[in-house]
Amino acid sequence: MLFIIIDMDYISIIKEKLKEEKREKPSNVVYVTDLVTCQALHEFYVEAGDDSAQLHGKLIHNSIESIFSQGKCETEVSVVYKLDNFDVVGRLDMLCGDEVVEIKTTKDLKLHHLYQLLIYMYMLRKNNGVLLYINPSGFKQYNVVDNRDGLVRVEDNITHEVKVYIIKIDDDFLMSLINLYLKGELYAQFNQCFSCYFRPQCGYHK
Ligand code: SF4
Repeated sequence: MLFIIIDMDYISIIKEKLKEEKREKPSNVVYVTDLVTCQALHEFYVEAGDDSAQLHGKLIHNSIESIFSQGKCETEVSVVYKLDNFDVVGRLDMLCGDEVVEIKTTKDLKLHHLYQLLIYMYMLRKNNGVLLYINPSGFKQYNVVDNRDGLVRVEDNITHEVKVYIIKIDDDFLMSLINLYLKGELYAQFNQCFSCYFRPQCGYHK
């Protein structure tokens, strides 16, 4: 249960990544989940192991997706993006018209969630996305706009507070993540350390 408090979405991402790793995959395939996961954190969770958080997160995902799938949304959409010799593979939670939607079960917006969504948006050449946070204390929705000008606009759907992030997703950025991943050096790529449970025992924190 401890891991539910820490970051259920990260655990879900890592468990999904482990399942993907168990499947035979060609050496030119890279999953988006690989690129948004700190490799040191991945190792900590593999060592610790826990299934309850994944189950909880999965139940929430499935419930929400089944509601939205009755409307204009496609759920669990697979996408492949060709980049040099690589196939970058993602599976986004929902595609609702022109909007990419990612569902998360943590309390607040996390930078690695935003990057995951932005990478999916880039792969699909979509400018609009939504981060939907659902947890026991309620839900939050962030509307994300990326016009590929280096500035990403994130609006809280309830308070209408807008934050602008300096982020540019392009092929070079994806290749830089892939290269670090292949070298086994993809640590804390999105400043995850400050809220990381494993920070005291981690030799890689920034
Ligand atoms: S402290 Fe930072 S580098 Fe270490 S596992 Fe956590 S996020 Fe990764």
